[in-house]
Amino acid sequence: MRVSNTHDLIIVGGGFGGAVLAMIARRLGLQTVVVERGRHPRFAIGESSTPLSNLLLEELGKRYDLPTLVTLSKWGSWQREHPELPVGLKRGFTFYHHDWDEPLPHPARSSSVLMVAASPNDSLADTHWYRPAFDHFLVQQAVALGAVYLDETQLESVAWTSDGVEVVGQRQGTAVRLRAPWMVDATGPRGFLSRHLALESRPVPGLEGNHGLFAHFSGVHPMTDRWGTVSGAPYPADASATHHCFPGGWIWVLPFNNGITSAGVSLNPEVARRLNLHDPAEAWECLLGRFPTIQRQFSGARVAHPFQHVSHLAYRSAQAAGPRWALLPGAAGFADPLLSSGFALTLSGIQRLAVLLEREGCPTDSSLAAYGTSILRDQDAASLLVAALHRCLGIPSAFNSLLMLYFAAVSYAETARRLGRGHLCPGFLLQGRTDFWEPVERLLHEILSEVRPPEDLENSVRSLIASVNLCDWLADGERSCYGVDVNAIVLSAGRLGASPGEIGELRRKLGL
Ligand SMILES: Cc1cc2nc3c(=O)[nH]c(=O)nc-3n(C[C@H](O)[C@H](O)[C@H](O)COP(=O)(O)OP(=O)(O)OC[C@H]3O[C@@H](n4cnc5c(N)ncnc54)[C@H](O)[C@@H]3O)c2cc1C
Repeated sequence: MRVSNTHDLIIVGGGFGGAVLAMIARRLGLQTVVVERGRHPRFAIGESSTPLSNLLLEELGKRYDLPTLVTLSKWGSWQREHPELPVGLKRGFTFYHHDWDEPLPHPARSSSVLMVAASPNDSLADTHWYRPAFDHFLVQQAVALGAVYLDETQLESVAWTSDGVEVVGQRQGTAVRLRAPWMVDATGPRGFLSRHLALESRPVPGLEGNHGLFAHFSGVHPMTDRWGTVSGAPYPADASATHHCFPGGWIWVLPFNNGITSAGVSLNPEVARRLNLHDPAEAWECLLGRFPTIQRQFSGARVAHPFQHVSHLAYRSAQAAGPRWALLPGAAGFADPLLSSGFALTLSGIQRLAVLLEREGCPTDSSLAAYGTSILRDQDAASLLVAALHRCLGIPSAFNSLLMLYFAAVSYAETARRLGRGHLCPGFLLQGRTDFWEPVERLLHEILSEVRPPEDLENSVRSLIASVNLCDWLADGERSCYGVDVNAIVLSAGRLGASPGEIGELRRKLGL
């Protein structure tokens, strides 16, 4: 049998991004086909969500009448409605600062931990998405809404015609030919259109040549069992995204509720060379052997899904859209998982495309060009901050200070959006607000170009975030624990010009 069809939209790539876009397109009445080369359920990396990514998921769910997305935007509703889907509880971001060949000092004496709460309780908490089940479920949702889903399909070519685009390939020995007025590439970095259009890539300064090595494990111990508990911790330390930072790289640990833990490492090229990543399992053991406390966390752990090694983690396409095509943010670029920014960038790109779908059906060339520019700007802002943070690995006070740029910007954006004041926070990391972003950008460039020594950043960061500091970030010097301060949120709502009624509504929404 031959599959040959004309649709309103072709989406290549049936991961979470492709599936969410397909769900929206169906809600808008568009004949949508999703082409996936693999088959669900399958392993995928990128698992840890954030308040901003979950807010975007919620906004999309509400706007396009997709209640499932709203349900999946919080731990509590996810557990109530979809207990069958494995997931991890993420109450915050935990950073441990290690030195090579040294155990982490005991928590009671340690300034080597930073805990930043992202939610006031479990019910409202973020999650780690167990992608084999999560992506499969979303694709099923898209199909239930009427999307055509072609998995195990190898696309061989793409061509532009006078009125659209045509992709041709094979599905289980059957010829596939699909036509639509336009297409979206949701295939991840260096994906389908990058190859077929020979899109140039651009350097990602400060992150060039970084390596990623990751796997799923069973039997990983909680850090609290192996190391101890931080006094005044705003959440149970292991119910978080754990970042083990050290000079030259960092290890992530993300536990799911099915006994599986995702873990991996991002390494600069020098450290990667020393570890010899050609044998990933051996390199991982060798790495853990240099950090006694992490080694204790992984003692007895088994690999549940084999290691994958990515030799060039950072990627940035020179172009993210053109006439009759667009890349999703995940296909246009990636910096590093350090700030868990991938989902937020992807969902904000989807939100922009959804507006175009609503307004124009098939977006005009100029709308697509504007979309492409905006997602690359977001990507560049994220990459710049992550690169500066990488430069500060091994200098905990500088790293923690710089992190506050991120937390101040995203908490401001989240609060402003929740109050319906999205215009106050244009662009990821508020990069559309020149009063905030220009001096921040200058500082980050100075750190990267080593004009500025990374030590003693605290005062500079404190003054840079003053105008957007809604949650007392860095207010009383360096701290190792940041909880969610309800009063600060409510006060800050006032500072954003919210009326008492809106503040009450915000409190109600946050369940406070
Ligand atoms: C090591 C690492 C860790 C990360 N951690 C985080 C994190 O903690 N939090 C976060 O927010 N983000 C993280 N990210 C980023 C995150 O993975 C991406 O933002 C997210 O996966 C993008 O989703 P997507 O659906 O666009 O692409 P993907 O998840 O990459 O899905 C692409 C899909 O396209 C399919 N495909 C590929 N090529 C073709 C083709 N030629 N034809 C048809 N189908 C094709 C693939 O099989 C896949 O199903 C991480 C990324 C990496 C590399």
